[in-house]
Amino acid sequence: MTGLLLASIHDVSPRFESEVDRLVEVLQPHVGDRIAMLVVPNHWGSAPIVPGSPFAARLRRWSEAGFEMFLHGFYHRDDHRHTGADGIRARLMTNGEGEFLGLSRAQARERIERGRSLVEDLLGAPIAGFIAPAWLYGPNTVEALEDCDIPIAESHWRVWSPATGRDLAKGPVITWASRTPSRLASSLAAAALLRHSRSRVLRIGVHPPDVRHPRLVKSIQRALAAGTKARRAAGYSALLKTS
Ligand SMILES: [Zn+2]
Repeated sequence: MTGLLLASIHDVSPRFESEVDRLVEVLQPHVGDRIAMLVVPNHWGSAPIVPGSPFAARLRRWSEAGFEMFLHGFYHRDDHRHTGADGIRARLMTNGEGEFLGLSRAQARERIERGRSLVEDLLGAPIAGFIAPAWLYGPNTVEALEDCDIPIAESHWRVWSPATGRDLAKGPVITWASRTPSRLASSLAAAALLRHSRSRVLRIGVHPPDVRHPRLVKSIQRALAAGTKARRAAGYSALLKTS
């Protein structure tokens, strides 16, 4: 069976409208409309997606064109105080963006349901799944996703179905970071290695700040070119059919 390449744009929010447009331009020559958009209903509590707004209409058009729409947290930002290992993990990995790391099961369920109904009302269609900000899931969030029958979720190393409990794919996601020069350099090096990955399912996840760095954009393009050589671009929902 041929492999699959799954491409996604994180942090789709009116806050990053022009960056998201640019990312679509970078991805489309390689994957067409097989793009997963990770939608944040109200980024940092100050960039709400307003029903009836031009941005909401664009989301709907993308969805109708075949882009997959995932819920990607609600606020994205982690407003909890963590203690111990979780706190260290959250600070090191996310710069405080691990919204779903420290929530209780009931809180996580409430935010997932609130975000889901907001996005589904805008789209007039179901979401494809839920992907936590910075791929960070506390154990309560994993249970809440099962409670909510979410079809698809993913972490750094796997894609699974909370609704059925099945693993859908294993393997890395290629992603980039640009907050500091050293993170930028190490993510370019990691991408150069990972694009040669032999895994059947290869994921590529891009973020709005990526477009500010020409070297990074070039690295994304090379990863897309390498990733589609022996794989076909697909949506995540293809995994529900093939696995
Ligand atoms: Zn994000």
